[in-house]
Amino acid sequence: MPEMPEVETVRRGLIPHWVGRKISFVDLRRPDLRFPFPSNLEETLTGAKVTEIGRASKYLLIRLDNGNTWLSHLGMTGVWTIDSPGDGKHDHVYVEFDDGALTSTYSDHRRFGIMDLMPTSSEREHKLLSGLGPEPLTNDFTLESLKSGLHGRRSPIKTVLLDQRVVAGLGNIYVSEILHRSGISPTKTAAEVAGKSQRIVVAVERIHKFTNEVIFEAIEAGGSTISDFRGVDGSGDLGYFPQQFMVFNREGENCKQENCGGTIRRIVQSGRSTFYCPRCQR
Ligand SMILES: [Zn+2]
Repeated sequence: MPEMPEVETVRRGLIPHWVGRKISFVDLRRPDLRFPFPSNLEETLTGAKVTEIGRASKYLLIRLDNGNTWLSHLGMTGVWTIDSPGDGKHDHVYVEFDDGALTSTYSDHRRFGIMDLMPTSSEREHKLLSGLGPEPLTNDFTLESLKSGLHGRRSPIKTVLLDQRVVAGLGNIYVSEILHRSGISPTKTAAEVAGKSQRIVVAVERIHKFTNEVIFEAIEAGGSTISDFRGVDGSGDLGYFPQQFMVFNREGENCKQENCGGTIRRIVQSGRSTFYCPRCQR
């Protein structure tokens, strides 16, 4: 499943192809993905020029010169390809730009992706975007915002960091990595980690620092390539491979932390796998 760094990689990959181009033809090959397509999707896109591609968490925000924003979420297996015939069966949306000078295909075999439209001027009021908290690597993501997001919450820190209202864009893989780097056990409650007073404690500082660090490195590396995710060019050559993960998917293997000697364990929290080292994560 693509996480936020992978979606950022897709955004950066699409920009040079799409921005400045006019959508000349749209073919919706089914009525829906996870939800029905808006009834005016085809007519709103056709004839519009792409002015910008933004992103909020895992949502691509394709801004058009007609005042609308086209939202694309890749779900679990969504892929945008450029000038590629795709695999046919799972190609659900086909788009031509500049009278066929460029084509793009959206494929998604599990169909958990989402497409929607909204006025660009009120993007943040959209139901999928209005509840998103601050995003790593932005000025809104501060020690204070993190502290207040964790304060008093009795759920495990792992679960609270996945709450998109606390930090937007963190997914299951990277939260395990962040907690390992922070040396914090995923089973501690958020309240325990944040401390009782209003003071910012070292644990919060570490999570803040390593959240930014892990996400920055993942974006730099072009997102991870596990599962069905492929880059916009379909090559699958994006550079961040599972063997670089310190804990994710490494159950039973040795902890890579120097001098630790622990063994990575897998537990299930809120229905999701958590990987951690019980020795160096306290
Ligand atoms: Zn360890």
